[in-house]
Amino acid sequence: MFLSVSNLTKSYHTGIVTHVLKDVDLKMERGQIGVILGPSGSGKSTLMNIIGGVDRADGGTVEVGGEHITDFNDNQLVEYRRERVGFVFQFYNLMPNLMVAENIEVVSNISKKPLKTDEVLSAVGLSDKKNRFPRELSGGEQQRVSIARAIVKNPKLLLCDEPTGALDLETSRGVLSLLQKVNAQFGTTILMITHNVAIAGMAHVVFRLRSGEVEEAAHNSEIIPAE
Ligand code: ADP
Ligand code: ADP
Repeated sequence: MFLSVSNLTKSYHTGIVTHVLKDVDLKMERGQIGVILGPSGSGKSTLMNIIGGVDRADGGTVEVGGEHITDFNDNQLVEYRRERVGFVFQFYNLMPNLMVAENIEVVSNISKKPLKTDEVLSAVGLSDKKNRFPRELSGGEQQRVSIARAIVKNPKLLLCDEPTGALDLETSRGVLSLLQKVNAQFGTTILMITHNVAIAGMAHVVFRLRSGEVEEAAHNSEIIPAE
């Protein structure tokens, strides 16, 4: 297994105790696309943040590519986030005062073995926009830049939290199609949070979060192209 989450637990203590993740198990093979479904507040972001090394679990284990990241110290987690995981968010999180190419180079400049800026720009279909500022781009184009920024470090794992949450249906299809292309072209394992059940059709494996536990909802041998 490329990604193996076992017996993961996480609670928040804010006056009252919220058991967000009670006993979460989740497994993915290398090169798969996985989708996490579940209602708002069910713990999807918390789970993804722990897998991405930006939050820590209370108990249980997360193994990524043979590494036990739940045993990592803070420095190891920094290195893991910097080199081996890419993140894509709903609202792009681009630097407004940097041009497209510069936004990507913020990441490649601190990576050990980055891909070339031109290669990722070409992969996301934005070679002609490299000297534009984010505000000069549409929402879909900004999300493509954020995907380019996430993949320039050539991560083994790409984590996407509601990547189409701010986009209309047609633009969403384009972004999902791009993620499928990234998965095929670079062999990147992709785990994506979404509210959109239709998106589940493009995944190899679908997980549903319920009451702090995960059930595997579907396993598709044939994945459906987004467009
Ligand atoms: P989802 O992504 O499924 O919407 P989250 O993982 O964001 O769910 O949140 C799960 C639960 O944990 C929610 O009840 C939320 O309010 C709570 N929660 C998330 N982050 C924190 C935090 N830093 N402190 C306290 N409670 C939190
Ligand atoms: P998102 O990932 O959608 O930007 P967050 O992860 O920041 O949202 O928060 C998800 C949920 O967790 C929200 O419902 C938010 O109110 C709750 N939450 C986040 N941080 C805290 C906190 N420090 N205390 C209590 N609830 C929190």
